Amino acid sequence: MRASLLWVVSAGIGLLRAQTPEAVSAITGVNVIDVVAGKAIPGQNVIMRGSRIAAMGPADSTPVPAGAKAVNGQGHYLIPGLWDMHVHLRSNPVDRDKVLGEENAAMLDLFVVHGVTGVREMGGDLSDQVFAWREAIRAGKRTGPRIVTPGRKLDVAEPAWPGSIAVTTTEEARNAVIQMKRAGADFIKVYFNQVEPPVFKAVMDEAHRSGLKVVGHLPPNLSLQTAFELGLDGIEHSTLGTIPQAEHDRLTSETAARKKRNLAMDAAESARRHMFLHEPKEAERLYPLLAKRPFWVTPTMVVQARVRYEIAERTDFDTDPRKRYFFPAIWQSWDTKGGRRRPPAAAVLEVLKSSIKESGEQVLAAHKAGVPILAGTDCGVSNNYVLPGWSLHEELEALVKLGLTPADALRSATLLPAKWRNEAATEGTVETGKRADLVLLRSNPLNHISSTREIESVWIGGEHYPRARLDAMLRLAAERAAPAWAAVK
Ligand SMILES: [Zn+2]
Repeated sequence: MRASLLWVVSAGIGLLRAQTPEAVSAITGVNVIDVVAGKAIPGQNVIMRGSRIAAMGPADSTPVPAGAKAVNGQGHYLIPGLWDMHVHLRSNPVDRDKVLGEENAAMLDLFVVHGVTGVREMGGDLSDQVFAWREAIRAGKRTGPRIVTPGRKLDVAEPAWPGSIAVTTTEEARNAVIQMKRAGADFIKVYFNQVEPPVFKAVMDEAHRSGLKVVGHLPPNLSLQTAFELGLDGIEHSTLGTIPQAEHDRLTSETAARKKRNLAMDAAESARRHMFLHEPKEAERLYPLLAKRPFWVTPTMVVQARVRYEIAERTDFDTDPRKRYFFPAIWQSWDTKGGRRRPPAAAVLEVLKSSIKESGEQVLAAHKAGVPILAGTDCGVSNNYVLPGWSLHEELEALVKLGLTPADALRSATLLPAKWRNEAATEGTVETGKRADLVLLRSNPLNHISSTREIESVWIGGEHYPRARLDAMLRLAAERAAPAWAAVK
């Protein structure tokens, strides 16, 4: 009994090794990517002591301390650890009785394997486990990315997702924020399909009083301008259209009236209306104001394309060889027949595509106006085939495709997430004194952003994960899931 328990415990923490606080290691002769300047600094020695970068400078004038474990970085490129700023650790809402704790925990390693050293978890039904994983990772008791989380989301009386807190009055709004703050939330996540402005404002006021940011979906009944003016700190997804509030009011009452008469507005009609009502002149006025506060935008381009048209057009998802790294309960939540999201009808695909394309142009316009863009993927249960770890690299590529430079894309996953967390003084770049969350790449990501996929090594707080160890973690993921797959076949 005791032996098997020990085995379970050691398997649960993967291949974690004891890291003494003063362990010294080095990366020699490496090209350091300066994400601020957007250039490579060649021939650097990077010395790590414990969880920090103790020194960095030209190889000939930055000696490697005696006894330090050194990794040859010549010909390689060193970037700060990547953050996926929108992930979910949650159960499948289609099968509400089954809690997917172990299945989600197994995915934590997959982030590390892909150089994702931190994630902003965006809420679900597993908040207690997520808080526990966050603490275990922080204490070095489990492998995984650093986690920040809102705990439970705030939503309407009948929430869209299990685990959310229903909020309908200003008092409930304040109490929900206080409750999450006490539970240990790092920020507040809102997911209101409809919300009274005073209730929305009460969330912001209470959260800001506690020093917490509020981010989430733009509620469909509020304009971007209104949500911004009410104090929202940022939006998820690329809803950057600037439609006057009066038009939102009209759309809201029309949607309700038509539902009653069984004439519901479909996705295509809604997309067309939103595109038509967007006012480019208003965007020119508003985006610089968003930049100034700042107001954070996490466009999540990959998930939008995937769930809004790719799942209707592609047939290769289920034969993906990466399937084996996930428990069947996770993979099945992505199935377009058994999962939560169904493929849109063929007739609406073209308009959905043009609407996403237009929103991408708005993301680029906002970026050019100085609005901070964060890389986030919305990966996790229910969001079809957005694979944790892999998806962050897809998102970086998607951002470059929109017109951001590779350096912009790197900042969206490193320096800007650190700024969002108010940790840019100690994280988010490769510099002396900063936390040693690092990714060593085989080619220069400033030339081709897809170089972020070519990972040679990862460090989290100075803890080294060489390629062989990352490969072993992948194998372990497949081994963990194999018995569950055998049971469903
Ligand atoms: Zn999400």
